[in-house]
Amino acid sequence: MNRTFILRYIIPLLFCFGWYAASSQDNSIRHRGCVTGDVMEKYFQKHPQEKIAFEKRQQDFQKKYELVRKQRQGLQAQQRVNATVTIPVIVHILMEDPSQVTDDQVQSQLDVLNADYAGLNADSVNIPAAFKSRFGKSELRFCLAQRTPQGAPTTGIERITSVTKSFPGENDPVKYSAMGGVDAWDVNKYLNIWVCEMDNENDLGYTFMPGLGIAAGERGFVTAYHAFGTIGSAKAPFNKGRTATHEIGHFFNLSHIWGANSCNVESCSDSDNVDDTPNQYVCFFGTPEYPKTDNCTAAAPGVMFMNYMDYVDDAAMCLFTIGQTDRMASAMNSFAELTPLLSSNGCVPPLLYSNDVEVQRIASPDNIILNCATSFTPQLLIKNIGSATLTSVNINTVVDGQAPSVKTVTLSLPSLQTTTISGDAVAVSAGHHSIKIYTALPNGSADQFVANDTATSIFSVTGSTGTPLSEGFESTALPPQDWGIGNTSDIKEYNPVRVTGISHSGNASVKFDNYHYQLFGKNAILNSPELTIPIAADSVKVTFWRAAAKASLASNDSLVVEYSTDCGQTFVAAYKKGGNDLKTKADNTSADYVPAASEWVADTLDLSPYVAGKFDKVMVRFRIINGYGNNVYLDDIRIYSVTLPPALKQKGYILTPNPTTGSLVLQHYNASTPLKAIAVFSSIGQMVWKAEYENAGTSNYIPINLRNVSRGIYFVKLVYSDKTIVEKILKID
Ligand SMILES: [Zn+2]
Ligand SMILES: [Zn+2]
Repeated sequence: MNRTFILRYIIPLLFCFGWYAASSQDNSIRHRGCVTGDVMEKYFQKHPQEKIAFEKRQQDFQKKYELVRKQRQGLQAQQRVNATVTIPVIVHILMEDPSQVTDDQVQSQLDVLNADYAGLNADSVNIPAAFKSRFGKSELRFCLAQRTPQGAPTTGIERITSVTKSFPGENDPVKYSAMGGVDAWDVNKYLNIWVCEMDNENDLGYTFMPGLGIAAGERGFVTAYHAFGTIGSAKAPFNKGRTATHEIGHFFNLSHIWGANSCNVESCSDSDNVDDTPNQYVCFFGTPEYPKTDNCTAAAPGVMFMNYMDYVDDAAMCLFTIGQTDRMASAMNSFAELTPLLSSNGCVPPLLYSNDVEVQRIASPDNIILNCATSFTPQLLIKNIGSATLTSVNINTVVDGQAPSVKTVTLSLPSLQTTTISGDAVAVSAGHHSIKIYTALPNGSADQFVANDTATSIFSVTGSTGTPLSEGFESTALPPQDWGIGNTSDIKEYNPVRVTGISHSGNASVKFDNYHYQLFGKNAILNSPELTIPIAADSVKVTFWRAAAKASLASNDSLVVEYSTDCGQTFVAAYKKGGNDLKTKADNTSADYVPAASEWVADTLDLSPYVAGKFDKVMVRFRIINGYGNNVYLDDIRIYSVTLPPALKQKGYILTPNPTTGSLVLQHYNASTPLKAIAVFSSIGQMVWKAEYENAGTSNYIPINLRNVSRGIYFVKLVYSDKTIVEKILKID
């Protein structure tokens, strides 16, 4: 399975649908947009065999479920048939500003789920009298996870800063860290909820029903941040937490109340396979007036549009039926992907050691480029998961496997709180380094759980060298000596890499992988050394070769080339190409792009106006901005300066070399009048070489061939439109 391909294929389609949806939305009322049916349909189109397998599993399930319903007939309507089960929930909040969804907002959603599934929702008073006897009270409850898959304490809420949006269906980027999302926690122990922005803002959320062959890491529920919980970013009419109630109903194998068809398909023959919900023709939106009858249920009390599994607004829905709650309980006991949740310990807080520091990550230097640095200060994000307040801890910094630099940090960090601690400055030389930082001796005693005490990373320190600099990336390491690499995502693998067998010249080039890493808006960076240039330089130029392809119409990767004259403290962009301007392959390709020889294109960037004659140092940075595109390659980067002879600048022209062996060159500098002719005479007045120019103008490089004349003194006559100049030169062998 190639998830990248699917995503690339789907994105352009969604853009189209999104556009139509948005434009048709202007005159209509916002209504519930559950995408579960669509994603299931899309899945079956892609995997027809899976549809057969799914239907078989559902038929087997239906038999078990109907047995449960028979047993139910001998019981009091609301008598429990199962023990209460609490499902551990991990909420991944994935937004540009994830703090928009507060802990209180998450808790408001958990409260709604627990009330709705228990049948304790205050608005159950709105259930029509005719349906009251069918009011179901499920045994399912929900807790925010109290322990991580690794056994550490957690709040069950994690926040990830990302612009990645949900593209509902298989391979949704919000579920993959390599696509700017966040990987699921163990789906056998947790119900994963991703709270994010949906690509189509009318979509409220989706899940996959059980019995599908989807990848385990895709199980769970994705929801729009504006349809989650009851406060904060939740927006009416979807601000009563019912999107989660509805979608998690699907997660536990409930169909829409009108049946398996799409919302507006008029049919009485499709069913939700629940025996106490009235047969229903199509879906209902908004806040309908009770009662409603339709083609399938023509008699009072009519259809049950106030069921959580219809499409009405949050405020208009208020019940599951007993048949539905029995169905969810049966599903928990029947489906292989649901039953492990029955025995999860995710709701049980772990026993805490008294002294246990958890290293969460290296805050700095974490895969960054340090320019002009001779030392750095290590910073570490830690959490005190001991029960005792943390008053001191050692921070040990190891660079490239050398002896650790140790600092004892004093602090006052209560149990289960996080903070950033710093070590002492560590000396470092130019190069690409590995770094390991670990904690020890919390509160002066041995850490009681050492498996969580260490974090590692990498970073570059750029160096200095002279011009000209030519880099074809033929040596075996990237970055080359004194260069730096890094990227702005949390994924180190997104750094540029050296590839062999793909090159403009030689055998190697640098690849920026925007194919496997769909980290929209993130930058992968290649940073040159600081280069010394003559302060008298007349021009400073960068030349390089690039190859790039677009994955689809919508993809829009960019290359920005920037220069710095303060050794990388600040950069100024001098070149930017994106999308169609960047690509060198004519046709878009959804394959992992490898350029043909003809797809390498040269670029020249003239930094002279900004640098020449002003600064004696320059650094150049190549920055690729990820735009859901494809691979970008760079090769044969050359950074050089040209310093013109003082005589040329003084006189406006120069003949070089003098003496000459015959290949003489006329150069101009800031010339303004057109050159008409050149004639070369011997010392006795004989013309030995001549050229006339129609449009030579003030061309900067005019060859004069004296290779076939004998040695001696010659006079070169330069005829301009307004003057004639004669220069004496010496021909030697
Ligand atoms: Zn639905
Ligand atoms: Zn520890």
